[in-house]
Parts: sequence; C-alpha cells; structure tokens
Amino acid sequence: MATALDIAKRNPNAAPLAVSDAARAAGQTALSIEKTAEMSVAAGAAPGGASLIGLTRDQLKDSLAAIGVAERELKMRVAQLWHWIYLRGAKDFSEMTNVGKELRARLAAAYTLTRPQVVSEQVSKDGTRKWLIRMASTGPLDKGAEIECVYIPEVDRGTLCVSSQVGCTLTCSFCHTGTQRLVRNLTSAEIVAQLIVARDSIGDWPDATPPEGAFVPTDGGRFVSNIVFMGMGEPLYNTDNVIDAIGVMSDNEGLGLSRRRITVSTSGVVPQMERLGAEANTMLAISLHAVRDELRDVLVPINRKYDIKQLLDACRAYPGLSNARRITFEYVMLKGVNDSDADARELVRLLRGIPAKINLIPFNPWPGSKYECSDWERIERFSEIVFRAGYASPVRTPRGRDILAACGQLKSETEKLRARARMMAEQGIGAEGVYAVGNGE
Ligand code: SAH
Ligand code: SF4
Repeated sequence: MATALDIAKRNPNAAPLAVSDAARAAGQTALSIEKTAEMSVAAGAAPGGASLIGLTRDQLKDSLAAIGVAERELKMRVAQLWHWIYLRGAKDFSEMTNVGKELRARLAAAYTLTRPQVVSEQVSKDGTRKWLIRMASTGPLDKGAEIECVYIPEVDRGTLCVSSQVGCTLTCSFCHTGTQRLVRNLTSAEIVAQLIVARDSIGDWPDATPPEGAFVPTDGGRFVSNIVFMGMGEPLYNTDNVIDAIGVMSDNEGLGLSRRRITVSTSGVVPQMERLGAEANTMLAISLHAVRDELRDVLVPINRKYDIKQLLDACRAYPGLSNARRITFEYVMLKGVNDSDADARELVRLLRGIPAKINLIPFNPWPGSKYECSDWERIERFSEIVFRAGYASPVRTPRGRDILAACGQLKSETEKLRARARMMAEQGIGAEGVYAVGNGE
C-alpha cells in the first residue's frame, strides 16, 4: 500500500500483534476462486438516475444515445462530457457551459454526476489518507458495497492505491483483505470513481485547493501522479474492468495519468498477465513473498494453481520489458518464515534474467494476524544480499499504519451483508449478481 522506496531507519515492528486468527481456518478452493471472479455488476447502474462518473467513452456514448442524442452528434458530445467530467471535475451539468441548455436539462433529468459516498476519511500523522467509500446501490436489497482507497503523498509524487474488488477471494495468509468473505468485482466506473473521489478530497482539479494543512506534493505536478492497484482485491480476477479503468485514467484528454505511472499488482494470475501487458501496457508488480513452492503454497495459495516456475515464465514473457521497464517483485518480510539469508540468495537466483526490482515490504500487522514482521537487522541483512547481487532493494516505508492504511491492512465492513446475500441467493434474487460468498461458505 505504499510506494516510498527509501529505507526506513526505524523499527517497522512497532505496532502490536494479536495472535488468534479463526477467520483464516477455512481453506480456499480453486473452484470458488474461478466462480467468484466472474461476478460483476453493470457499470453506472445506480437507481434514480445513473451516475456518469467513471464511464468509458463507449459507455458515455450509449448513455447519450439512450436520451436521444443523434448519432452524428455523439462523438462531439462525448468529447464535451469527457472534458467536463475528467479534466475539470464538474459536479453539476450546469457547469458545462458549452453544452446547450436543452441538452443539459435532458442530461440532468436522466443522469447525475454523483460520486460514490465517502463514508469516512482518516488522515494519518504521516499525511496518508484513507477513505472508506460506499458504492452506489445496485438494487433494492443492496446498501452499497464498501471499499477502501488510500492516498500516499510524498514531496515529488502522490500515489493513489485503488481497490479492484470488494474483498478478495484469495486467502493469502498474511493479508487482512483476504479474511473478508464477501467479494464482488468493482466495475470499471467504480475503479475510476476512486480517483475522482480522491481528487475531490485533496482539491486536485483546476481552480480547486487542497484542504487546510493537507500534505500534497510540492513539485508543481498533479497531486495524484501515480496509481497502484494494491488496494483490496486481485486485479487480474477482474481484468476487463481493470483494463477499461486504466483506459479512462490514462486518457490524455481527461485524467491523463501516464501508463508508466500505473502499476498493477498481482498475486500471480498467470493466464491474465500477458493480456494486461498487451492491452493496458502498465507496469507490473508480482506478490512473490516466497522462493519455494511449499511455502508459497501457504502464504499465497494461488501458487497451488500457478507455481513459481509458471509465474516467472509469465514474467519473462510480459510485453515491453526492458531495463527501463522492470517488474517489481514484492516480498513481505515475515519473521522466521521467509527472511533467511538462504531465502535472499534463492530470490536473486530465481530472478536472474528478468528485468526486476525487488521491493521488501515490512509486514504490517492487523487484528488477528498470526505473523510478526522480521527484525530490522534481518531486513537490512536480506536487503544487503539482494543489493550485492545487483538489485536495488528498497524497503517500503510503511505508511499510514496508525489508520490501518498500510499494505494488506484494508478490509471493509461489507461482509456484514453476508447473511443477506445468502438469503438473496436462496430466494433466487441474485441482486444483479452482486455478492459472492468466498472462503468455502
Ligand atoms: N491482490 C494483489 C494486490 C493487492 S495486495 C496482490 O496480492 O498483489 C498489495 C500488496 O500488499 C501485495 O504485495 C500484498 O502481498 C501485500 N500485502 C498484503 N498483506 C500485507 C501485510 N499484512 N503486510 C505487508 N504487505 C502485505
Ligand atoms: Fe488478495 Fe492480494 Fe490480499 Fe492475497 S495479498 S488476499 S491476492 S489482496
């Protein structure tokens, strides 16, 4: 959840660790992983006037056609809306001064520019911000899925960590999100909306200003300059929507983020990796965390399906790799589990020939987690072995730990809806396919 690449000269083990982890007792089957990954809801399907926020050009075109805008006008009208929504951050159709009054009225009658609701905003003492965001309801029985999104400001960049799913079907044993049982894919609009919400909150639009005292980059660039798909969920179980969202976020006539400043992190969904590279052309991060299959099977259970060899072969084949465009390998430092000198040496051996960066992540504890973060001396020693082998080996400075905003600490309360989801499933209501129940339930 953070991208600071400097070595933090302090003990990352500061936060207290709890011990029990009953939620993790149930195993995850490959079958339920695949099944859940297909769940989705229609983009922009908000009742009472769907919001146009986050839509792709094609979706906007359809929305305009649906209110009777003539075919020959569609392209021009889409361009106008695009400009107001994504370049100017418009919140009301009345701001769209170059759109005729009559069309503005028709738009306002049918649609909104409503953002997902910010349920809470927490600001860490290090300036990191975490928002709990409630997505629009998808049906009468849905109060709206909740996800978390984190903003990590630095002097020369601002990184937004976005979620791709509500919860995660995978059950990596060190990750808080993995304990959340209810899962659904976010639509591409809901993914893009996280960026819009963040820019609203930190005043990152023309003519807007950041809130009093907010920590934002001071280099004159955008307050949100980088995106990492490292929030809740496995992006490559939601590849279509993630690719569409990246298309909107990187569009030069709108939000305009460079694809090279967008990083998608995956636990290793091997069959989707090439497609991500070919279609989204973003940077790739791999949650490796172990160098032996027996251990990775436990830490990152998707390894039972796609083992380390298959994963690294897919990395070698990732489109556009070069020394200037390296894959980031994430490695969480777990005390006595994966942090020995032999592990470090095996890590550099495995990555030989792949343009790579290695990102050591101090383990971030969460309530009920059963691991401890490696001691600082151990992390330094591990980092040194990696460094001597020719890799930059930055240790990710934990950010926002005091507000549970650091890597792997995110989890929303949406799972409280579990009973209702089950009831709907039993009654065949389906709630537009909203909630799947993971973890073998
Ligand atoms: N599902 C994707 C992206 C989200 S997780 C993935 O797994 O890659 C983002 C990063 O945080 C991953 O590298 C993940 O392994 C790491 N992470 C998860 N839980 C963590 C924890 N408790 N402490 C530190 N890093 C953690
Ligand atoms: Fe899911 Fe990633 Fe957490 Fe694993 S580390 S449970 S894939 S969010």
